[in-house]
Amino acid sequence: MVAAWAVFTPEFTAEPDADGGGSTVPDPRAPDLAAAVVGSGPAGFYVAAALLGLPDRNVRVDMLERLPTPWGLVRAGVAPDHPKIKSIAGLFARTATHERFRFFGNLEVGTHVSRDDLRARYDVVVYCAGAPDDRALGIPGEHLRGVLGARDFVGWYNGHPDFRDITVDLATDRAVVVGNGNVALDVARVLATPPDRLATTDIADHALDTLRGSLIHEVVVIGRRGPAQATFTSPELRELAELTGAAVLVDPAQLASIDDENLPHGPRHNVQILRDYAGIRPVNGGRRVALRFLTSPIEILGTDRVSAIVLGRNELDGHGRAVDTGERQTVSTGLVLRAAGYRGVAVPGVPFDDVTGVIPNRDGRIDGGDREYVAGWIKRGPTGIIGTNKKDAVDTVHTLVADLAAGPRPSRAAEPAAVEAWLRERRPELVDLAGWAAIDAAERAAGDRQGRPRVKLCTWEELLAAARSVRV
Ligand code: NAP
Repeated sequence: MVAAWAVFTPEFTAEPDADGGGSTVPDPRAPDLAAAVVGSGPAGFYVAAALLGLPDRNVRVDMLERLPTPWGLVRAGVAPDHPKIKSIAGLFARTATHERFRFFGNLEVGTHVSRDDLRARYDVVVYCAGAPDDRALGIPGEHLRGVLGARDFVGWYNGHPDFRDITVDLATDRAVVVGNGNVALDVARVLATPPDRLATTDIADHALDTLRGSLIHEVVVIGRRGPAQATFTSPELRELAELTGAAVLVDPAQLASIDDENLPHGPRHNVQILRDYAGIRPVNGGRRVALRFLTSPIEILGTDRVSAIVLGRNELDGHGRAVDTGERQTVSTGLVLRAAGYRGVAVPGVPFDDVTGVIPNRDGRIDGGDREYVAGWIKRGPTGIIGTNKKDAVDTVHTLVADLAAGPRPSRAAEPAAVEAWLRERRPELVDLAGWAAIDAAERAAGDRQGRPRVKLCTWEELLAAARSVRV
């Protein structure tokens, strides 16, 4: 199996690494704990690394993933023009080389196997299922064609097979992006960047083709609160101009009443960058990104598809909350992208708080669970950068270790080979590490031919066919 990984991560196979949890040194001890990790995004891999690296335990980790591919949002969420952020996958790949680690993709917990199935075969189960839905705005017209959630749009340009066939119509002069977080900036950037720049990335080919035909000249990003309350981060705000080459427009009047000195570091830095942008005059004909603050979406207009959006002007109350002034403006647009935050989705059979969108837990231990744990966005909600999940995962593993120490129990681990046979019976098209290695190799080879990091396979059929090729 290690050899299979070497095909696609030659630079990460050689050295044992405590941080990545990877090791090529055979361990004479038999595993003394069987763990299932549900989900293969950053939280899942940080949990796996923490479990595999426990000094006084010999843990075996099976990672179960709905998609045929690992890495979660590192593959399907991080924008294609952010290769540095994506390089964290190298660390996860190192974890995956560990002799006590197995990957089983194309397998959905709650559909193909149940919570009870896992509890019967593993000593501990850690749910790292992320937050795969996005928050609705709850305004009239949201159902119209031409209104898309960031989840769908981001999945579409990143080659997530669930979003390969969604309709993205860019035959409009203006797009409106709702939200002031980093996802809003990601989608604004992809819309505003000349396609030739994106052509050197791993953006999905179908998205690149559509972007080449885009008629969008202006991307308006609206935030319901002020510049100092925006949740995007300074490097992302700065690169909005750098990576797109577009004019980023900010009305200086929106910054006039802000007292920079009294702001915390992050917002102060953001406001300074916005002040730089506020001095820019748009070049005629070039693409532009307009950042508008204290602006809420009120209603989306159109008959069968969106033709305009009604915006409302807000003021801030004394606690930094948006208050509607009642002032309205209608702006024509053919595309509204909702980037108002993500949301967790219930794993069938596992407790779920529908209001907060997380699995109820205390320090990572699922409420009412039986040696069941949670980490990442499904534990704390969709906040923080990729690295935030490392501490989150380690905290959960601490809780798990403390529970094991406090109440030792007879193992309920089934034989590894028997578990694999059972999984294959439930899901004959299971994608293991060798299958993913075949997908990865095919994508990289196609990328080499075009001078790109990879050309993604973007349909379930293509992904499964590539994985199958390893068995032929
Ligand atoms: P986010 O930072 O929570 O931003 C959500 C935005 O939507 C906020 O501006 C929020 O405004 C707004 N919003 C929520 N409900 C709204 C409504 N009903 N009407 C209008 N606006 C509404 O979430 P995100 O952008 O989805 O990002 C998720 C996490 O991933 C963040 O921690 C982010 O930093 C991270 N991320 C990082 C990167 C990167 O490092 N490059 C890239 C992408 C994502 P309020 O603040 O007023 O609630």
